[in-house]
Amino acid sequence: MSVVSEPKSASFPAPLARCLEELEKLPGVGRKSALRILFSLLSRGPEAFGTLAGALAAVPASVDRCPDCRAFREAGGSCPLCDDPRRDPGVLCVVESASDLFLLEATGEYRGLYHVLNGLLSPMKGVRPDHLGLEALSARLERGGVREVILATPPTAEGEATASYLASFVGARAGKVTRIGFGIPVGSDLQYADSQTLSRALTGRRDYR
Ligand SMILES: [Zn+2]
Repeated sequence: MSVVSEPKSASFPAPLARCLEELEKLPGVGRKSALRILFSLLSRGPEAFGTLAGALAAVPASVDRCPDCRAFREAGGSCPLCDDPRRDPGVLCVVESASDLFLLEATGEYRGLYHVLNGLLSPMKGVRPDHLGLEALSARLERGGVREVILATPPTAEGEATASYLASFVGARAGKVTRIGFGIPVGSDLQYADSQTLSRALTGRRDYR
C-alpha cells in the first residue's frame, strides 16, 4: 500500500505557499481545504483574488460595533438588529460573541434584541466585568420595558460564572432572567450523554403540554 503524503508548502512557488499559510490560520481550514480554496481561486482567474482581497481589506474601516448591543454594523450606520422595528425590544439575549449571535439568528426562532459580551468573565485570562460592555446593557435596562433577559452564555465554567454574575447584575431591572436550556443533542441517544449533560437536560426542562 502506498502512502501519499500531503504536499508541503516548499513544493509551491513562494506566493502560493504564503497564501496557503494564511488560509491555514483560519478556523476549520486544514491543508486540504486551503489547497481547495487556492485552486478554486486560481481556476476562476486573476480577478477572483482581487475581489476576495478587496472585500476582506474593506472590513476594518467599514464595520464597527453598535454602541447599544455591540453587534457588528456598517460603520456609523443603523444597527440591523436594534433599529429593526419588527424585533421585540422587551427581550434581550446575552451572548458571548457575534458568531453566537449569528448562530441564534440562523435558527429563525428569536425575534428579540441582543447584548454581545465579546468575551466571558475569566480571572485566569484577566477578563473582568468592565470588559463586557455592561454600561451599554445597564443603559438599556435603565430605559425600562425589558421583560426578559435570556442568558445564552455557554455551559462551561466561564460561561456559568458569567451567567451567574449577569443574573445579579440585571437584578430587578428586568421582568425575569432566564438561562437557555442545555441538554441532549438532537438525534442522539440518552445513553451517549454524560451525566452532567443529562443532569442539565433535566434541570433545563420546560412545560410540555
Ligand atoms: Zn444594535
